[in-house]
Amino acid sequence: MSVPAPADRPDPLGWAPAEIERLRLAGLLRQRGATPSGADGPPLVDFGANDYLGLRSDPRLAAAAAAAADRYGWGAGASPVVSGRTEAHAELEHRIAAFEGTEAALVFPSGFATNAGVIPALVDEQDAILTDERNHASIIDGCRLARAERHVYRHAEANDVERLLRQTAPRRRRLIVTDTLFSMEGDFAPLVEIAQLALDHGAMLLVDEAHATGVWGGTGRGAVQHLLADRPDLLPAVTVRVGTLSKALGSAGGFVAGSAQLIDWLYNRARSYVFSTACPPAAAAAATAALGIVTSEPHRRERVRSLAQQLRAALAEEGWDTGAAASQIVPVRAGGPEAAVALSRRLAEAGFYAPAIRPPSVPSGHSLLRLSVSARHSNDEIHRLVAALRSARSPRSV
Ligand code: PMP
Repeated sequence: MSVPAPADRPDPLGWAPAEIERLRLAGLLRQRGATPSGADGPPLVDFGANDYLGLRSDPRLAAAAAAAADRYGWGAGASPVVSGRTEAHAELEHRIAAFEGTEAALVFPSGFATNAGVIPALVDEQDAILTDERNHASIIDGCRLARAERHVYRHAEANDVERLLRQTAPRRRRLIVTDTLFSMEGDFAPLVEIAQLALDHGAMLLVDEAHATGVWGGTGRGAVQHLLADRPDLLPAVTVRVGTLSKALGSAGGFVAGSAQLIDWLYNRARSYVFSTACPPAAAAAATAALGIVTSEPHRRERVRSLAQQLRAALAEEGWDTGAAASQIVPVRAGGPEAAVALSRRLAEAGFYAPAIRPPSVPSGHSLLRLSVSARHSNDEIHRLVAALRSARSPRSV
């Protein structure tokens, strides 16, 4: 049999151009490229980053990272269960457990990998997962990998959780999973109700604090601390706390915190932990430094929360729809994807970077401009952003 000449061979990726064109026609094609930085002018003021406390560029993180890179090398070199867990990782895990008030913690290569590994380690075909319809993609994928019976409940509706808990009572284990602070709409989960339900029905509760760590709660632990401040009796319901080092903590990596038994189990069974190289020791050391700053400089979280409050109030006054946002993530609802992209472009012309968020990051019809406030923003930048949005929508600027 003769092998066809290269030109006659069918292209195994021949399907891709038509699929990409389909995305383009739907207004959903994302262009690869660096974050826009004001064409020829000064850099854009960044309202896109999740650097809520302004720690990403803090010299103390850079110094801690440099010292760790010097000592341990840049890469971890192996999975943590082989030889990749350096003292920098061990110290960070202790630090996270102390910060979260739990017995133990485990650091993963990313927040995404944390959910993708932790959820399937907790439940399988014999079990049921109850998951909010707006949960992050990493939770959705973690649920898929778990192969448990999946029940998606209506966004932030505790009644729906209760209905599903009754329905899934015969299952061996039940796991309720929710973001505590939703990453696109900036609203909080109804944690008091959900924690109560978890306790009453004997279900595990996994919360993803990715956007709340460092920003919410009296000591910066996150939305659990904030929302359950008056209900310490409900804290034991929160069986599994997931978070990321990549947002307010300004570094990279993810973590899970909980009882020593939970962490022992995950150390052995979370596949994205066991079978993936540990995060660079420098990233671990930077995150440890960041946790110290979160603890010693509470003014950072007070500032970001107050700036966000100002922004939400100003936008409401001007008639923008910011949905149920109650945090430093402020969505401006735009409707269709093209409208969101147009708004984002006009803001870039005015000197601001604010990403247009389109499906699949949000449900279709819910495209938005996602404004992410940081402690490093100035009051003046908030005022100018509101003014830029005003002129972006006025007919003369079309
Ligand atoms: N969980 C949530 C709720 C998130 O928003 C994100 C990141 N967007 C992640 C997990 C993943 O975290 P990381 O970026 O560290 O992978």
